[in-house]
Amino acid sequence: MDILFQLSFKDALDIAVVALLIYQILFMVKGTRAVQMLLGVAAFGVIFWVSFSYQLHTLHWILGHFFNSFFVIFIILFQDQIRSALANFGSGRRVWGAGTRGASGPSIDEIVEASIAMGRKRIGGIVVLERVNGLKNFVSTGTQLLSEIHCDLIYAIFQSTSPLHDGAIITKKGKMLAAGCFLPLSKNVDVDRHLGTRHRAALGITESTDAVAVVVSEETGKVSIAERGNFYAVEGKVELARTLKRLMSGKAISLPKREE
Ligand code: ATP
Ligand code: MG
Repeated sequence: MDILFQLSFKDALDIAVVALLIYQILFMVKGTRAVQMLLGVAAFGVIFWVSFSYQLHTLHWILGHFFNSFFVIFIILFQDQIRSALANFGSGRRVWGAGTRGASGPSIDEIVEASIAMGRKRIGGIVVLERVNGLKNFVSTGTQLLSEIHCDLIYAIFQSTSPLHDGAIITKKGKMLAAGCFLPLSKNVDVDRHLGTRHRAALGITESTDAVAVVVSEETGKVSIAERGNFYAVEGKVELARTLKRLMSGKAISLPKREE
């Protein structure tokens, strides 16, 4: 109990900052592959403790070296998460993981309308919706548009005869910033091997940023939503609109992950 009275303001501040950092890390890794990696590291920690308690000298020596370089290993393992955390801090928002607003209802309805129509006609495409993390470096890989979001325009862009049909449209707060943008491909090795580069690109942008991507398959006409490195299968216009609006207002969704 005495220790509580010895706490100075500096100690309290120190504890609060560390608690905030741990909260941020857990919030970021929630629902991603990093959870399994963290569990793996924790398992090593337990084995290390057992080797110490039961005096398994060789094992203890090996794991001791592993934990001596823990910070370097941690940075290598979690480099993607650390990058996106720094980008989050850089944007100066969402320190507490609160909701974000990126697009209004009517502009989402235009994206939904276009995606469903494209699916019916088997026209492939990706529309990315920016949330907190800036997507400037991806916008610059395409052709700048700076126009209102309109379903006919999206539909026209993704026609195979259009010069802008290859790549993604990137939108921000109800505006189409650019089309024909090149997105990073997902590094996830667990992705269904039948998914091609369009789906891997849609997934990739949601792994390295907090953006949401709508992808329409040219092969199957299926419309999927990618968010935080996961695919969600959406059936029909109503579900697509509802899910996108929830995601864009920062709410969590409870759809089954897409598995084929
Ligand atoms: P689909 O179900 O529509 O066939 P898929 O996932 O099988 O999609 P591909 O058939 O490989 O993917 O689709 C190729 C198209 O995906 C390209 O023509 C291009 O428009 C788009 N694409 C490929 N790579 C990228 C990328 N890195 N960024 C944005 N778009 C990309
Ligand atoms: Mg394909």
